[in-house]
Amino acid sequence: MLEDKNQERTSLEQLGEFGLIDHLTRHFTLKQQSTVKGIGDDAAVLDFKGKKTVLTTDLLIEGVHFDLSYMPLKHLGYKAVMVNLSDVYAMNATPTQLTVSIAVSNRFPLEALEELYAGIQLACTTYGVDLVGGDTTSSQTGMLISVTALGVALKENIVYRSAAKPNDLLVVSGDLGGAYMGLQVLEREKEVFKVNPGNQPDLEPYSYIVERQLKPEARKDVIELLKQLEVRPTSMIDISDGLSSEILHLCKHSEVGCNLFEDKIPLDPTVISACEEFKIDSTLVALSGGEDYELLFTIDQGDFPKIKGNPNLTVIGHMTEANESAHLVTRDGSKIPLTAQGWNSFQTK
Ligand code: ADP
Ligand code: MG
Repeated sequence: MLEDKNQERTSLEQLGEFGLIDHLTRHFTLKQQSTVKGIGDDAAVLDFKGKKTVLTTDLLIEGVHFDLSYMPLKHLGYKAVMVNLSDVYAMNATPTQLTVSIAVSNRFPLEALEELYAGIQLACTTYGVDLVGGDTTSSQTGMLISVTALGVALKENIVYRSAAKPNDLLVVSGDLGGAYMGLQVLEREKEVFKVNPGNQPDLEPYSYIVERQLKPEARKDVIELLKQLEVRPTSMIDISDGLSSEILHLCKHSEVGCNLFEDKIPLDPTVISACEEFKIDSTLVALSGGEDYELLFTIDQGDFPKIKGNPNLTVIGHMTEANESAHLVTRDGSKIPLTAQGWNSFQTK
């Protein structure tokens, strides 16, 4: 369907490991003052001049986390970086350096890895982070990518999951469920393609949700917006697994409960129409879909006037005492306990 039409195939054996590393990383330039030494020695050398460092890592495995039949390699490289930057922003920190480790089988030619690194480089340039190292090895079958991101923050600016208080407002950036519905569309087109390989899919009506799946952006802009508005979240997390699972993390670590209002959950019109087409409940998709990489955070009620009416931010609920636990308040006003899978529709309270 979206397979690589590139005819050039340079085998990785021709280059050797060191030639490959040099080739893939030759266009990366260093921008961060804190990078003393990047690629090329036994280890990178960094100097953060007394600031706190945050560090996060993610491992992506072909067939588990991505499917190359519809995920272009350039997008994969970009997304592998985004999922890590999103975690750094969720600490209210600024990402500065990355390492990228890959394992590839000889099924992949050099041109495929060039595409992957073009995506990684685009992400580095767009977000101003330096690639400072990695590792390259072979795999028996598929591709593995592990990205580690470092970031910096002043100690007092770091936002943990653990400091939400009862009555704090629960806020989310952007809209939810798009990445999951984009995946449904891509999976459906893959099945159609298997039956009829001549059929080129028309993804145009689904461009927003397909892009949410294939080319997510980490919400650097939201972190900058909050700084500008002088709002410091009391707790924060990024939405990688779905809204309900992330809310439960905030509740658990902060020892609070939560009321989430179904009618407040922000959904793009294309998500709603795709949900109708696939006969899936849009609230369930927002709660359990995942991979939206939006930021979910709590703020003191006194900060509400500062964010009120901002199109990037939606208040979707408020925190409660721990003994009230976490609930979804549905459109008809009933209260249903939130579970990591979404909500348990059989238990009404
Ligand atoms: P070592 O033998 O010490 O592990 P390598 O030969 O693997 O060193 O790596 C040489 C340099 O290239 C190091 O700076 C390493 O961090 C970097 N590097 C290796 N693989 C990658 C990669 N896939 N992407 C970016 N940098 C890499
Ligand atoms: Mg190595």
